[in-house]
Amino acid sequence: MTWEAVIGLEVHVQLRSGRKLFCGDRVVFGDPPNTHVCPVCLGLPGALPVLDRQAVDLALRAALALGCTVPRTSTWARKNYFYPDLPKGYQITQFEHPMGIGGRVDFDSDGGAKSLRIRRIHVEEDAGKSLHARRPGRTGIDLNRAGAPLVEIVTEPDLRSPGDARAFLQSLKRDLAYLDVSDCNMEQGGLRVDANVSVRRAGSAVLEAKVEIKNVNSFSYIEKALTQEIARQIESREAGSAVRAETRVWDDRRRELRTMRSKEESSDYRYFPEPDLPPLAFGPEELAAVRATLPELSRARRRRFVSEFGVSTYAAGVLTRTRAWADYFEALALDVAPGEAANWIMGPISAIVGEGGGSEAAIRVPPHRLAELIALVESAAISRSAGRTVLEAMAAEGVSAPEVVRREGLGQVADRQVLEGWIDTILNEDEGAVARYRAGEEQVLGHFMGRIMTLSAGRAHPTEVRRLLQEKLREG
Ligand code: ADP
Ligand code: MG
Repeated sequence: MTWEAVIGLEVHVQLRSGRKLFCGDRVVFGDPPNTHVCPVCLGLPGALPVLDRQAVDLALRAALALGCTVPRTSTWARKNYFYPDLPKGYQITQFEHPMGIGGRVDFDSDGGAKSLRIRRIHVEEDAGKSLHARRPGRTGIDLNRAGAPLVEIVTEPDLRSPGDARAFLQSLKRDLAYLDVSDCNMEQGGLRVDANVSVRRAGSAVLEAKVEIKNVNSFSYIEKALTQEIARQIESREAGSAVRAETRVWDDRRRELRTMRSKEESSDYRYFPEPDLPPLAFGPEELAAVRATLPELSRARRRRFVSEFGVSTYAAGVLTRTRAWADYFEALALDVAPGEAANWIMGPISAIVGEGGGSEAAIRVPPHRLAELIALVESAAISRSAGRTVLEAMAAEGVSAPEVVRREGLGQVADRQVLEGWIDTILNEDEGAVARYRAGEEQVLGHFMGRIMTLSAGRAHPTEVRRLLQEKLREG
């Protein structure tokens, strides 16, 4: 009997407006606790929320990019619960009428092209954080994050494997960054995922009782936690017992899941409409205008890089990891053959700025300057290895390739007389080796080449040296 996994995700993403959703406080990670708070996010009596329009605009971009329908109006609600990091006693969120409904996303996974329905996307404020490690025996509360702007993206239970869940999340993260909606910095809690999972007999259309997995803070652990949980559920079902609906948390240290609470203990949030905020309203013109500003997303761009530029699927994947990186490649490919452009970016450039550091590369070595350097290497004016040295200097000092070449005397030497001078020096030094070559030991040629390259500090034109060297050795 084979089993099928059913997975649906709830993803919280911090919007990159840099400000809280209902007050002007800045959202900064890592600042001293409670330095970005005010009466509104502290929930002091009488303080009123004022909506930050920029956060709404970012959420709208996400909703449209996920293929959601954006209703003419959406409303705010209060979700009530008691927790020390929630000073108001309720979270402002969207409940009955969210900003986006019924979307669809295509993504590529190891298993091929996949598609996933998005149930809804809504805007809400974040809670603060409990700090357990600061003072022995005490828990501190940091409210710097309280009121930070989030979207929650809820998928339909369309995913069928942990690998697909991971692939979808990676693609979502990439695209939210492409859209400038979020940095999705997982270490800083900028993207948080709850994964819901159940198993059923393959072919069945029933939705069985699900387990919700919380508190997993990396994509590889999400994949691991889901794999573990699916195995546990299958084992239990094969033993003839049912799976209990419950919430399980990931234990980072032990790398395993444990029960947090059963469904019966789950809270009743007593949602009710937020009286202090008017509904959001979007007209068709506004939606069309925002839609027109959406960039080409990573998957489409990856596919286009393969079809338009003929680079490998692997290279296209690396080059489209960030939008800046992809922009950098396209700018470079205006002047340089695409294959060569890809090699330079994935090799020397990423060694300097790190993979995906497109914007940084563009600042330190703009594409037109890199093109200039590549032209020098291709015309053999400088050697390939000198090219790398030149690139490092360009990145460090913000200078052009010709400047560095001139200054460091790195120009490749193809002048016959100079080359012959070097060749004679080396051949005279080692007549034994010359004799061995002439006796048929051809690998000695490589030895001479190496000596000449060293003598010339890498500047001797290699193919020219080889030709002259062979000529000389034949003459002898
Ligand atoms: P609840 O009412 O328990 O919160 P929802 O229907 O709101 O459940 O769904 C929450 C999330 O769980 C969604 O992402 C959804 O895709 C997923 N989900 C719902 N039912 C199942 C199931 N049987 N197995 C796996 N995931 C599920
Ligand atoms: Mg729910």
